[in-house]
Amino acid sequence: MSRIAIVNKDKCNPVNCGNHFCMRICPRNMLGEECIVKGPDSKPIIDEVLCTGCGICTHRCIFEAIRIINLPEALKENPVHRFGANAFELFHLPIPKKGKVVGIIGRNGIGKSTAFNILSGKVIPNLGNYNKEPSKEEIIAKYSTTQLGDYFRQLYANKIVVSYKPQRIELLPKVYSGKVGALLKKIDERKISEKLMKELELENLKDRELSQLSGGELQKVAIIAAASKKADVYYFDEPASFLDVTARIKVAKLIRDLAEDSAVLVVEHDLATIDYISDEIQIVYGQAGAYGVISNSQGVSRGINEYLDGFITSDNVRFRDYSIVFGKYNVEKRRHEILFELPEFEKSFGDFKLKTIKGEIIKGEVMTIMGANGLGKTTFLKLLAGEIKPDKGLVKEKIKIAYKVQYPTSDVEGTVQMWLLKSARELFNSGWYKQNILEKLGLNKLLDNEIKHLSGGELQKVYIAVTLSQDADIYAFDEPSAFIDVEDRLKVAEVIKEFIIKKDKAAIVVDHDVQFIDYISDSMLVFEGVPGKHGKVEGPLSKTDGMNKVLKMLDITYRVDKENNRPRINKHNSALDKTQKKENKYYRS
Ligand code: SF4
Repeated sequence: MSRIAIVNKDKCNPVNCGNHFCMRICPRNMLGEECIVKGPDSKPIIDEVLCTGCGICTHRCIFEAIRIINLPEALKENPVHRFGANAFELFHLPIPKKGKVVGIIGRNGIGKSTAFNILSGKVIPNLGNYNKEPSKEEIIAKYSTTQLGDYFRQLYANKIVVSYKPQRIELLPKVYSGKVGALLKKIDERKISEKLMKELELENLKDRELSQLSGGELQKVAIIAAASKKADVYYFDEPASFLDVTARIKVAKLIRDLAEDSAVLVVEHDLATIDYISDEIQIVYGQAGAYGVISNSQGVSRGINEYLDGFITSDNVRFRDYSIVFGKYNVEKRRHEILFELPEFEKSFGDFKLKTIKGEIIKGEVMTIMGANGLGKTTFLKLLAGEIKPDKGLVKEKIKIAYKVQYPTSDVEGTVQMWLLKSARELFNSGWYKQNILEKLGLNKLLDNEIKHLSGGELQKVYIAVTLSQDADIYAFDEPSAFIDVEDRLKVAEVIKEFIIKKDKAAIVVDHDVQFIDYISDSMLVFEGVPGKHGKVEGPLSKTDGMNKVLKMLDITYRVDKENNRPRINKHNSALDKTQKKENKYYRS
């Protein structure tokens, strides 16, 4: 079995650990061999051939800076790229195919961006030899017998143009400024931006400054910008974030159209969207910051099911020791105790008016909110949280609401631990908090990291933990699944659900990932109306009634995959779509 050693240079502090402690305790070093040596930067370098994998350095490094990892048995070849000695390595690449949309699913931090940088020519892969960059001819020769040989030949001859929709769209206004219409016109090589703006209902925003757009609007602009370029390969990194269910389907169709003359790669964590959009699936697995492997491509349904199962048959690799099953969350029947009476609210902003009806929030329950964007869901949360004042309908009871904003920003000074401590205080040191919040969300490994250096998914989880750390009656979360991968979406749902039950509080969750909503919901508020004009609230309804109502409004039907309870969108006008509509079962669970 081959193994790799990973030294996290940010965590490693050889002066403060007792002068290269790992070098003194490594059994091979004790025998006089040079298994761990001092590198030019004074940080340790581990010889992966001499290392026996005993794990002593890993366990005794006080900064938890060393990991020794056994690679999967089936992985016998050299990596495509390695960042340096004892650093991240990537095996295999996604394969762009003209006429196809290849969906890529996998955890964050295991090489999807590196793979894209290689395919766009920004990074020349070193084939594992980080001491000497190979020539472009060597790369072409290495892949000459595979589909990628021709790709690299054309890429390095400047015959392939790549267009890219980045993941962190909220950062775009920091780089670009100006009015939406003018900005899109400037880069519109295919002369389609006006048509796409119409299709995605952005026409009215032509004269708006980029910096004034919501996350969903920014996402649509970024997608149109990428699609407007003449390219051979289009790469969309998480195109569904911040979009409502209808917009997800419109975007899926738009992206599928691009595949007529080009190759399209899509990274997405919303399984219903990637299922709908893709012709093939490639799974990415590995360990964050250590190694990543991109699997062979396979059919969509099989690919997604194998990803959930944690076993890739064609590669003969088990990459997760448990299956992800979207079952119903099992809770014993609870007493029906009202925590809070929702008042009737009215609020107008310019031309927009929101009206809500009376309702109840029940202790120990998660109430979800669904509906198109632009109907006032975030306004409703802000009214409840007291962030904005209603025109009518004051909250009578004094109720504390902890609120996770829709767009987490990284402009918070200090480390993750410093921020969590500030909100959680003494709760931070309790075993329950450590086990059920920090460990389940994987934040225990990020405590010393600076907030400003976190990835989108990490930042989202920190914001969720900060919200749960506060002393409140209702915990409100605006789009908590954005930028979070499939495994972590399930964990986020569990963490919120368990917290609410244990503390006898209530949660309100706004999200557009149907699978996430299905898993976490006890009841549902449905927002109706005309986006940007008026919003009206119905409910709380039972989850099934709510889901049925929303999907009927959107004219979309869902079925639940019998094998693993995965909600799947029926193709428009398919036999299943027609039957479910006839039976008025837009959501068949
Ligand atoms: Fe040495 Fe390898 Fe054991 Fe670490 S795991 S102490 S490097 S032999």
